[in-house]
Amino acid sequence: MSHDAVQKTFPPSEEFTANARYGAELLEEGRDAEAFWAKTARDVLTWDTDFTQTLDWSDAPFARWFVGGKLNAAYNALDRHVEAGNGDRVAIYFEGEPGDTRTYTYADLTREVKKAANAFASLGVSQGDRVAVYLPMIPEAVITMLACARLGAVHSVVFGGFSPDALRQRVDDAEAKLVVTADGSYRRGQPTRLKPTVDQALEREGHTVQNVVVVKRNGEPVEFVEGRDVWWEDVVGSASEEHEAKAFDAENPLFILYTSGTTGKPKGILHTTGGYLTQGAQTFRATFDLKPETDVFWCTADVGWVTGHSYVAYAPLVNGATQVMYEGTPNTPHEGRWWEIVEKYKVSILYTAPTAIRTFMKWGEDIPAKYDLSSLRLLGSVGESINPEAWLWYHRVIGAGRCPIVDTWWQTETGAQMLTPLPSVHALKPGSAQQPVPGVEIDVVDELGDPLPNGQAGFLVIRKPWPSMLRGIWGDPERFKSTYWSRFEGMYFAGDGAKRDEDGDIWLLGRVDDVMNVSGHRLSSTEIESALVGHPYVAEAAVIGASDETTGEAVVAFVMLQEAGEQAVRDGEDVQATLRAHVGKEIGPIAKPRNVLVTPELPKTRSGKIMRRLLKDVAEGREVGDTMTLADPGVMRQIAEDMRNSSTK
Ligand code: ATP
Ligand code: MG
Repeated sequence: MSHDAVQKTFPPSEEFTANARYGAELLEEGRDAEAFWAKTARDVLTWDTDFTQTLDWSDAPFARWFVGGKLNAAYNALDRHVEAGNGDRVAIYFEGEPGDTRTYTYADLTREVKKAANAFASLGVSQGDRVAVYLPMIPEAVITMLACARLGAVHSVVFGGFSPDALRQRVDDAEAKLVVTADGSYRRGQPTRLKPTVDQALEREGHTVQNVVVVKRNGEPVEFVEGRDVWWEDVVGSASEEHEAKAFDAENPLFILYTSGTTGKPKGILHTTGGYLTQGAQTFRATFDLKPETDVFWCTADVGWVTGHSYVAYAPLVNGATQVMYEGTPNTPHEGRWWEIVEKYKVSILYTAPTAIRTFMKWGEDIPAKYDLSSLRLLGSVGESINPEAWLWYHRVIGAGRCPIVDTWWQTETGAQMLTPLPSVHALKPGSAQQPVPGVEIDVVDELGDPLPNGQAGFLVIRKPWPSMLRGIWGDPERFKSTYWSRFEGMYFAGDGAKRDEDGDIWLLGRVDDVMNVSGHRLSSTEIESALVGHPYVAEAAVIGASDETTGEAVVAFVMLQEAGEQAVRDGEDVQATLRAHVGKEIGPIAKPRNVLVTPELPKTRSGKIMRRLLKDVAEGREVGDTMTLADPGVMRQIAEDMRNSSTK
């Protein structure tokens, strides 16, 4: 990555700013955080009973927002839009991987959710009960989540790719009463099966599940356990279309969701209703400049991940937006599938992850060039730092140089976006998540919790409670306090490293656990990875610090090559040496990797995040740790073997 490109900024066009829903006044309003959130909560949601206190922080770190308020989440996402005369607006355009489609208007979706709520209630689900959701990316996933919310029940979505053990752990942890699943799904052109995983998960006695509801998606054979298992089409199909949404307390639990497990054992993060919906809905409108009458939004995240909760199931619907939902993989049946979908549905706002963008870069820009992407007007990124190289490609190739990119930093724990440029105001900087959203106070501090000046790297903290903050770790208040609130007095510790640049814009530097100490120099994994991916040979990179007798820690890089890199290998070039020299030139000799290991794949979670802790295990010759949330556990075996071979060479 050349430094010119890093420093280049992209101010908003006059046209964008003139037509934007929000401008600088929003940032101004956000300065009085509590007043801002109180006003926002009344603005974005319909309350059955108004709240009497904005924030109760007396039992910190256990927050209560919008005290005394009552509302129903599903009513806010559905019924009220129908009542306002927008029942015919499309809520979801669903595109299945084999090409089957379904369109749900707000009236349709409201009806389906009412039926599902009646069906779940008939199976004994009521307020406070937990429902495990083990479904593919199909509309029934959103319908199930909203039906739970409608009943005041708590959903716990478990990624459709997880193993029986991972599912069982989560079912047990939450003591789920009901599991909603499907016969299977379609991925990579193949029918896959889900129900057998549920059966295996529940094989051993001692669980709390009373019923399993099964959606028919692909017709794969299923076995039914008598008295426990029922078809969705039977129970939901026959249920009444009448269901009145009861109002629940603002702090009624809405869902439990386990973190990706990138840094360790996943944590069951608990979110509640009023605050979560307020910040989700507000950030959705502001960050994406949403115009619900005309925009078509597409978030590519699976519902099994927090992005799929906040920016598929809840915020778009609370805002009355139209969105696309896609079941499958980006290269089925061809590598232009996403762009075909953008063209077909005239997607105007696209929200995706850097890992996807780097994959498209690798496939080549001639692929998106075949499609009409002129409907796009704004692009978003989430999940990890977007390296400037990928940002610029996304901007030029997908956005035709016309669409602002919002790089949004947030976590399962934060519930909604926390750092992002406001596209009508901020001059965009490739690679930086830039500024806190209005009403949020974020800082970069040193080991002692003292604020750091611009230019110095430290720890990212959140100084004040925010509406969509986690309310705890399910069943483990001590872990909640020790993980997030004990490192720095009175501040939330995010676990990420960060620094501010000379303009005060924030750059994320990777997990604090991933910061390396090489001969007394602190190096960030993100910066070295970004330098590597900036080289034309490299498609993806993961960098870790492995213990080293002389330097304390040594930089070890794992890289996936682009075609040019593979060609160089075939030509006999010492690609490792080239890349080491490149990092030395871009960052400094101290950052030069001790080893560069070329690998065909990197270990990633199903949400596309690189599992650096596993690479560290391999580099330090340890048994590889918990791989439960890995997309493809085979990748780790391969890398471990390559590592052994390379060190004996
Ligand atoms: P675990 O907490 O179990 O280790 P995880 O942190 O990967 O898993 P998530 O909550 O899905 O689980 O991910 C949040 C993390 O993702 C953030 O803490 C940050 O490290 C990273 N992240 C998300 N968005 C961005 C972004 N825009 N820029 C940089 N990093 C990001
Ligand atoms: Mg985390």
